[in-house]
Amino acid sequence: MRQPWVGGNWKMNGLRESNAALLGALKGAEQLAGVDVAIAVPAPYWQQASEAMNDCAINVMAQTISPHASGAYTGDCSVAMMQDFKLSGALVGHSERRQGAGESDALVAAQFAALRGAGLSAVLCVGETLAEREAGETLAVVSRQLVAVLEQYGAEALATGVLAYEPVWAIGTGLTATPEQAQAVHASLRAVVAAFDINAANALRIVYGGSVKADNAAGLFSMPDIDGALVGGASLSASEFLAICQAAG
Ligand code: 13P
Repeated sequence: MRQPWVGGNWKMNGLRESNAALLGALKGAEQLAGVDVAIAVPAPYWQQASEAMNDCAINVMAQTISPHASGAYTGDCSVAMMQDFKLSGALVGHSERRQGAGESDALVAAQFAALRGAGLSAVLCVGETLAEREAGETLAVVSRQLVAVLEQYGAEALATGVLAYEPVWAIGTGLTATPEQAQAVHASLRAVVAAFDINAANALRIVYGGSVKADNAAGLFSMPDIDGALVGGASLSASEFLAICQAAG
């Protein structure tokens, strides 16, 4: 039995005042029983979020991370910096980083290694574009992104974290994948992991991301291989995010 996982990816949103209100509302929440919950916040607010969530079950994560330990990498943040602020882990390979910041499969694998080397968790994000889906390449693309990490670091390392399937065409567009579409990809991803290690495949939480809202979450979570969600826009509303957490629990 896999414990559901729900993450809120704030992306580049929020300022101190609005963050304080959101964090305060999340902290007092009672809807979190039976669900692992995390929020991935912008680096300037790591400290604010980490302090606010200090004595609460919600983990604070980074949205990306440098694969390097320290040095001349202007604008980047290291795993040690994350640890300094008691962050639990980071997203790696989000499509907005792969596309917007040119992060390659190899770089994502190196970020994964840096996190796991420090004992932190990694949420590996994979997903196809609309053009790739229409060309029938969905499974080839997400398998390639997954195998880039699996081949180097093994299924066990992956299973301690979370795999997020986020079709690029569903992110921020209001076009959610249907539960059946998402389930089909999740089952294929689990089969890819199973070819490496069946136990790791059974333990791995595979969560869906892309226009998840309170009113479509339950349908997604009813699918056998959908173990939670990575939520963007809806995670900026405490009531909406908590309703999604509750649907997962
Ligand atoms: P939306 O929920 O805003 O579509 O974003 C999904 C996402 O990219 C989460 O990482």
